[in-house]
Amino acid sequence: MKFRNFKLTGYVVYGNGCFDQLGEIIAPKRKPNAPMIFFVDEYFRDKPALLNRLPTEGKDKLVIIDVSREPKTSYVDKLRDELTAEFGEVSGIIGIGGGSVMDMAKAVALMMTNPGSSVDYQGWDLIKYPAVYKVGVPTISGTGAEVSRTCVLTGPTRKLGMNSDYTVFDQIVLDPSLTKSVPVNQRFYTAMDCFIHCVESLNGTYLNAFSKSYGEKAQALCEEIFLEKDTWDDDADEKLMMASYAGGMSIAYSQVGVAHAVSYGLSYLLGTRHGIGNCIVFDKLEEYYPEGVAKFKEMVKKHHIDIPQHITKGLTDEQFDKMINVSLGMAPLWENALGKDWKDKIDAKKLRALYERL
Ligand code: NAD
Ligand code: ZN
Repeated sequence: MKFRNFKLTGYVVYGNGCFDQLGEIIAPKRKPNAPMIFFVDEYFRDKPALLNRLPTEGKDKLVIIDVSREPKTSYVDKLRDELTAEFGEVSGIIGIGGGSVMDMAKAVALMMTNPGSSVDYQGWDLIKYPAVYKVGVPTISGTGAEVSRTCVLTGPTRKLGMNSDYTVFDQIVLDPSLTKSVPVNQRFYTAMDCFIHCVESLNGTYLNAFSKSYGEKAQALCEEIFLEKDTWDDDADEKLMMASYAGGMSIAYSQVGVAHAVSYGLSYLLGTRHGIGNCIVFDKLEEYYPEGVAKFKEMVKKHHIDIPQHITKGLTDEQFDKMINVSLGMAPLWENALGKDWKDKIDAKKLRALYERL
């Protein structure tokens, strides 16, 4: 057996208001004549309360990131080309936003030093050279993108991350107060990404004590916040940010499962976003995760969340086949969920029946 030697995030700062330390944290990473680039979620475009706190200096540049769709390889390449044309070299990229912005920051930081298109690096360990310095600042909690070794990109032929040790952030800034403004539904969908990471990790065949320790803690935090509390408060924001971190650590040393494998198909064909897509699928997975799904339904009810239904109604056979192919292509996810003989347990016909229920 070969054990994975797992790359961790370089530095972590945590606490309400710690965002204001960003300037002093990045100062030693500044190189002469090479600016720091701040990627900021478009939600903050007209929010001086955040923009005025950015520790910009000299030629530093603010780039507002379009998050109307999940990150695309073409968008990554375009930003890389623009930054290279304008500055030649940059000192670093700081991504401030949800999973989409953090993934864009990771991806562009990698592409500043690796030649060609990001399409060439979708896969595992294809990156050749270390990225420029990169920092992740989550403003919504749940994806675990702050700790993961991937940045998920939709390319011309597939949705697949650039997975590598070089992808991991050098620094993350975990300031729960930045998440206060997230709307209730969005907060729930992204939080459930974390809850589902835990259920899939804890019920997977890849489970080990490392993943279990983080997964159990993260799942307990989610349940405490969404099932035991009656009002949302600072404590909930703080716990959810740590749940996201721990959930990410849990899957880093195991794998996700059925909900992710199926929702990748939805996302590829219909552009369904990660958080809500996982919720749509997980809602129908009582066969695979009975306890987790029951708790999920309780949380949905308690928080009056809409989980869209019938989203695959009217799709053609060809479209179903496309989703099924994308999903069955996620071999490690199925193997984690169902075991080494997963091909005996799930096939195109069974998957079609599941997709038809979504
Ligand atoms: P997101 O980044 O797509 O953002 C969702 C919405 O929330 C956007 O409209 C955004 O503007 C808004 N938002 C963000 N912060 C806000 C704030 N503080 N106040 C108000 N609105 C705010 O959502 P997400 O669920 O965090 O990320 C999903 C993305 O993450 C997908 O692209 C997915 O592929 C990726 N992802 C990556 C990993 C990884 O390991 N790299 C893991 C899971 C998901
Ligand atoms: Zn996820």
